[in-house]
Amino acid sequence: MSWMHRLRLRALAVVVGLVLGAFAVVGWMSVPALPALGVALVTAAAVVHTMSSKLSLPTCAGCGTDLTGQGAGAYGVVCPDCGTINQHIRVAMGEDATRRG
Ligand SMILES: [Zn+2]
Repeated sequence: MSWMHRLRLRALAVVVGLVLGAFAVVGWMSVPALPALGVALVTAAAVVHTMSSKLSLPTCAGCGTDLTGQGAGAYGVVCPDCGTINQHIRVAMGEDATRRG
């Protein structure tokens, strides 16, 4: 299972856990439902944003290693740790097209 799959599963678990926790708080403590769900959604957004903030950097999808400074080959950046070939977003969007000629 790659780092990206584990990240997705962790984000899903956090969101499901927060929603179930919000329902439990509403049910047990008679808290109004909308504020409790609002707090749960804001917390879920903050936690998922924190978990996925590393994705704005060139990161290996296989193991999560930071690929900053690694040279891109013809098929993408090869991770020095696990050997996964990564085509990160900057290369795919053509930002590096000027550098490669
Ligand atoms: Zn890797």
